[in-house]
Amino acid sequence: METEESKKVPLWRSLQTKYALTYIVVIAAVLILLNTYPVMASQQLVFQSKQTSLQSQATVIASALAGPDGLSRDGVIRVMEVLGDTGLSRVLVTDPAGVVLYDSSAASGAVGRYALLREVTSALRGNDAFRSDYAGGAFHSRAATPVVYRGMTAGAVYVDEYDAEQGKLLVGIQKTLRTISLVIALVALVLSAVFSRALARRIAELLRAVRIVRAGEYSHRVQMGGGDELSQLAGEFNALTGRLQTTEEVRRRFVSDASHELKTPLASIRLLTDSILQTDNIDPDTVREFVGDIGEEAERLQRITEKLLTLTRLDAAVTVATVAVDMEEVIRRVAHMLEPLAQAVEVSIALELEKGLTIRCTRDDLYQIVFNLVENGVKYNLPGGTVRVATRTEMDRAVLVVEDTGVGIPQEDITKVFDRFYRVDKARSRAAGGTGLGLSIVQDTARRYGGTVRAQRRETEGTRFLVTFPLYREGERG
Ligand code: ADP
Repeated sequence: METEESKKVPLWRSLQTKYALTYIVVIAAVLILLNTYPVMASQQLVFQSKQTSLQSQATVIASALAGPDGLSRDGVIRVMEVLGDTGLSRVLVTDPAGVVLYDSSAASGAVGRYALLREVTSALRGNDAFRSDYAGGAFHSRAATPVVYRGMTAGAVYVDEYDAEQGKLLVGIQKTLRTISLVIALVALVLSAVFSRALARRIAELLRAVRIVRAGEYSHRVQMGGGDELSQLAGEFNALTGRLQTTEEVRRRFVSDASHELKTPLASIRLLTDSILQTDNIDPDTVREFVGDIGEEAERLQRITEKLLTLTRLDAAVTVATVAVDMEEVIRRVAHMLEPLAQAVEVSIALELEKGLTIRCTRDDLYQIVFNLVENGVKYNLPGGTVRVATRTEMDRAVLVVEDTGVGIPQEDITKVFDRFYRVDKARSRAAGGTGLGLSIVQDTARRYGGTVRAQRRETEGTRFLVTFPLYREGERG
């Protein structure tokens, strides 16, 4: 028990950690997505709009430049002056060879040199080119387009734009998302800690209860609110423990009752043997009488042990193959067997049996039930009394009635007579060779076949026992 207790689940394998980790992983995945996807999507959108606007600006410039005279430095400057402020960071115009004719950022000193720009090269080959990137919180985009006149490439226009405005907007969105994520992460962390701890605590409580009960304290119960599966589990556990407690109590009482019942005849036997052994010159008649008594006690022991064995067999509840048993036949056999005993105490047995009443049972077990009841009816009767055995059908059940005109059972004992070793009048039961186990056997056996047993006081005198069994139906399997 102690080794089990010390077998504490390490934190990394605990349910609490697993639960909390799952929670955190899911939340982290969601937050990563929240922080990347919208930013990437808006970047893409900005790229697209930049491409459209820059390219159309380049095209406007290119078409303004296109003319029959070709491109010259002065010509380009004139056209650019006419176009006015383009809002672009840089505008570059080259001749068909790629030599720069015009550069809006005069400081670069590029005029007269070859423009070594990818976009320009591409434009001179007759293609539009565009490139944009986002870095340091700003969009940097370039576009180039050829200047075409009558199908001839007369040069290229290159525009460049550095946009920090849109970049700032995006950085703002990024920041807001990061703040929201941080708050969500914190809340999730706290919630996961709280929930996983609560869960772990409740499971630990259940575990503790299981261990306490396992150690033998069957009266222990767990209190668990919440109305969830765990509280259901706790409820089931309490019910199970309750059953265990009852079974244990019954077992304990049974063992102590049984030992007590066995002790009495054994003590008598010892007393009788001691008397024989310790009395000098004991006469043969006394010895015969004592040995006879010893025999009687031994017989009693035998009866008790046989009945105890029957009860143990019933407790084990091994399923037996049932057959259709004709009640009339079995009852007549019992009556026949008990007739001599009844005659000896001047009791008559009367039978009122329904024909062809069959139940699902075994012959021996039905015999046992009827025998115990009729024997009690005879044993606890008065001279001149009767025992009436009747059967009838009631709905889908067979009813067996065994009633007598005997000494009766006091109202307060009427349910207790089915308890093991319970006897109303110990002396009378003992004198009649009773063990206090007969009615327990009747009840356990009947229940095994889906039957019920009840005892009633009769209005005038005596006792009535009512036993019901499910009827046997043709075609039913046993
Ligand atoms: P026992 O072996 O003592 O007869 P049972 O279990 O058959 O044990 O019965 C338990 C007790 O119930 C008996 O000791 C007796 O006091 C009482 N009892 C049973 N049947 C009858 C009856 N028909 N009339 C009066 N008392 C009875």
